[in-house]
Amino acid sequence: AHEELLQSRKMEALGQLAGGIAHDFNNLLMAISGSLELLQRRLPDNPQIASLIDNALQGAQRGSALTGRLLAFARRQPLEPQLVDLPCLVKGLRDLMQLSLGRDIRIELSAQPAVPPVMVDAAQLELALLNIATNARDAMPDGGLLGIRISHEEAPSAHGTDRMLAPRVCLAISDTGEGMDEETLARAADPFFTTKGPGKGTGLGLSVVHGLLEESGGRLVLKSTKGEGTTVEMWFTAASAPQGQLADTSVQTSDKGT
Ligand code: ADP
Repeated sequence: AHEELLQSRKMEALGQLAGGIAHDFNNLLMAISGSLELLQRRLPDNPQIASLIDNALQGAQRGSALTGRLLAFARRQPLEPQLVDLPCLVKGLRDLMQLSLGRDIRIELSAQPAVPPVMVDAAQLELALLNIATNARDAMPDGGLLGIRISHEEAPSAHGTDRMLAPRVCLAISDTGEGMDEETLARAADPFFTTKGPGKGTGLGLSVVHGLLEESGGRLVLKSTKGEGTTVEMWFTAASAPQGQLADTSVQTSDKGT
């Protein structure tokens, strides 16, 4: 219990720190957006420059949306669970994930048909996925594959009775990176555990993911083999969704097709 208290104090202090940084960062991004908008208005018509400025503006706006979420987290606002369609959420986040993975890592996304929705805070889940993608990137400095698989299990019947349990839904993210030895794997989700050296890792990524799943009635399962790669499994309990009540969880991504 003492350790738990210590841990929650650490998290609180860190939350305040992160909140402060997110706030300052957001102000910076606002200044950048403002200047870009001015520039956009004053420049003579030049479609090439206009589209460059547009790209920069969209980047700043995405950054601002992310810091907003970070702020919400740091303020320890209560989670806002909602019905989430996982394949839809992941598809909406794909561009942003690819951006943080870089060009040498390929995303392979697969989803079983008819995955039932789950109850979870969509914004927090997106942050969790970005954290996991960052870890995967760090584990694959020479590039590789990020596999995202969404699957569900048939409803198992509770042992010894005929009562049906809710089906379980799994969102698994695997990388072909350096993997972890047993000792690292055992501690990976501990708050402030990091092997990334000072200034690089906070050791909070996986502990935050773990916390989110615990609070959403789910479970985090880590599997890893040194030298082969890591799989992060996020298990949820399926929610029964009345038709047409799915939250729109797709993040805003730009249309870069032109
Ligand atoms: P951080 O990324 O800041 O170190 P995390 O809690 O996200 O904090 O991760 C803790 C540690 O777990 C990492 O420092 C790393 O040693 C290990 N780890 C996490 N994800 C992976 C991965 N995909 N591949 C290899 N090691 C990982």
